[in-house]
Amino acid sequence: MLSAFTACPGLFYTTPAQDGILSRIRIPGGILTSEQCCMIANIADNYGGGYIDVTNRANLQIREIKAAINIEVLQSLQELGLGSVNPAVDNIRNIMTSPTAGIDTQELIDTRPLVKAWDDYITAHSHFSGLSAKFSVCFDGGGKVAVKNCVNDITLAAELPNGDGKTHDVYFRLSVSRGEKGKPPQDTGILLRPKECIPVLAALADVYLQHTDPKLRRKPRLREIINGLGVEQYLQEVEQQFKVNHSDFDDKLFFSHSLLTAQKPEREKFYHLGIYPQRQTGLFYIGVVLPLGRLKSWQMRGLANLATKYGSCNLRLTPWQNVLITDIPQHKIAEVTQEITQLGLNISSTHINSALVACSGKRGCAASATETKDHALALAAYLENNITLDYPINIHFSGCVKSCAQHDPADITLIGVSLEVENKSLEGYQVYVSDGTLQKFGYQLYEYVTFTELPKLISRMLQIYQHQRLSLDESFREFVYRYGTSQLLQIFS
Ligand code: SF4
Repeated sequence: MLSAFTACPGLFYTTPAQDGILSRIRIPGGILTSEQCCMIANIADNYGGGYIDVTNRANLQIREIKAAINIEVLQSLQELGLGSVNPAVDNIRNIMTSPTAGIDTQELIDTRPLVKAWDDYITAHSHFSGLSAKFSVCFDGGGKVAVKNCVNDITLAAELPNGDGKTHDVYFRLSVSRGEKGKPPQDTGILLRPKECIPVLAALADVYLQHTDPKLRRKPRLREIINGLGVEQYLQEVEQQFKVNHSDFDDKLFFSHSLLTAQKPEREKFYHLGIYPQRQTGLFYIGVVLPLGRLKSWQMRGLANLATKYGSCNLRLTPWQNVLITDIPQHKIAEVTQEITQLGLNISSTHINSALVACSGKRGCAASATETKDHALALAAYLENNITLDYPINIHFSGCVKSCAQHDPADITLIGVSLEVENKSLEGYQVYVSDGTLQKFGYQLYEYVTFTELPKLISRMLQIYQHQRLSLDESFREFVYRYGTSQLLQIFS
């Protein structure tokens, strides 16, 4: 096995975990072919725990690897287009884009060519191995399934500054990570034409490298460099670097400052689950719920076979740890959904598993106070028997405050706490609810609830929400906003 243990695993850079070796496969843009899926499923069976996890960057992870993956297998993966052809940069964070890029009925621009261009650029420039492994870039094409609010170091989000609806006038708004940790990147007020995006990203990366000691074991995050220099200084240096790299570029095109700042309202992130028409007439995509982002290897092969039989041999991973099958003709939808059910999966955005998130927990991470995944599954089983959801509810279990599995606030966040009681450790959770106005977890409602008490409490909270909401359209976070925490504590008790 090619291996150099780092904090952020890649195909060639694996990392030890509590439950064995963890290998992460970068999937730029989250798009996989059926053939690639089957090969990954075989690796999970032959070397790992027989399952595959989709991460919140639309990567794939194989866990519980006990024996070295054969070098020929790794090479075959590369030949199928998985893993960077340049191992030096394979550990750099996956490039994020909307899972509906190119098929979204409302998108302004297909971002897939930009994802490929940036991936090719990284691959061709080995000195980018000096970037932080967490150097993360996101392209948002302005469609219905938006990713621009996901936490990334750099986001380029499409918009029409003149509102004239002409595709050639699409610009990308540049946002960069700064300020507090865990916040989405903040608007720089700079708009870029599509052709300027890759050169500007390259300049952003070069300036980062100029301010980083290559010998440092722990590379700083881009946010830390920007906080140290100040965002104006950083962007001035980026502009200078851009001119050095592209002396022939028409510099009037670069850094066209924002003409208007009106932002689209945040899109509902669960629009990707269920059945939706594509921009290609007569074709549909189907978003499939993966419980806690996990697929058994046989389920992965099953979905890959469905994509081959009915679609275009493609699956798309989402940053919400689900998967889309695309390009399904309308008359085949019923057959596909039935076969998805036969795989033990469903497509409903209001199923409790649709927005249930958990980090790897005690079994996979030494920092975890609790068995997050087991607890999440037990909670889901309890809720399935006690309540019927009719609006997506995002519940996030985190083994510690680091909150690796989800960076934005969930409707309900549960942070693991372990208490020593009579020489026994008792696993429980801090309970937070969010109205969407605060970053991180929202408002703490309960300081400590044992796991035994938790399912009843969450069920009661959701039942009260369903009975007391203003209408079927009132979301959980709107309900939280309307009541405020002190009143919520009263009505939930
Ligand atoms: S959130 Fe904490 S416990 Fe969970 S995986 Fe991350 S570091 Fe580990």
